[in-house]
Amino acid sequence: MQPTIDYIREHFELYNRMLFGGTLTVPPIRLTNARTYMGMLTYKRRAGLFGGKKYSDFVLRISQRFDYTEQELQDTLIHEMIHYYIAFNRMEDGSAHGRLFRQMMDDINRRYGRHITVSHRSTREERMKVIGNRPRPRVFAIMELSDGKCCIKVVPRIAQRVRTMHQRLTMDPRIRRITWYYSTDPYFALYPSSMGRRMQYVDMTELQPHLDCAKPITVH
Ligand SMILES: [Zn+2]
Repeated sequence: MQPTIDYIREHFELYNRMLFGGTLTVPPIRLTNARTYMGMLTYKRRAGLFGGKKYSDFVLRISQRFDYTEQELQDTLIHEMIHYYIAFNRMEDGSAHGRLFRQMMDDINRRYGRHITVSHRSTREERMKVIGNRPRPRVFAIMELSDGKCCIKVVPRIAQRVRTMHQRLTMDPRIRRITWYYSTDPYFALYPSSMGRRMQYVDMTELQPHLDCAKPITVH
């Protein structure tokens, strides 16, 4: 099924009553064409006047690029609502899907027989369906962080841009190791190419087979 604003709002209200004690207000809802996520809650975060953090400008985004089953769409919505509940109530969680998030997710899954996961993505098969099979040349860095996690950054295939990004990444104290690659594997088209600061965490067990076929490149 294709998501509609009405469907999302109606179900937001339903789950708000059922799962969150009716405490949430409906944020603006937008349908997007994103292929890198199914759902995403965006908001601004500022340091409060007396310490703590202030959250504002919540927007709930749902990608209409995918054909969902009704259950997938509902699980996606509830996932974003957990993020919203945590931010809305200024609760602290260690990371994006920290202990608190997982506790609430597990509890809802158990009590209501849902299948919510910590992923914002569609399944790999669904994503690849959208991307297609034609070769997509990409240049990207795989970064190993000091906490052992890995990130990817895809950049425009222009030597100067690659060097600029390399310099920028080299100065980031969280990054322990940077390896650059070139690949035409459409898999890497799942990650947006940009010069922005955002890096995406990657699951190396999923990525490694694709990386094995990529060509390492040296950036000076
Ligand atoms: Zn999430």
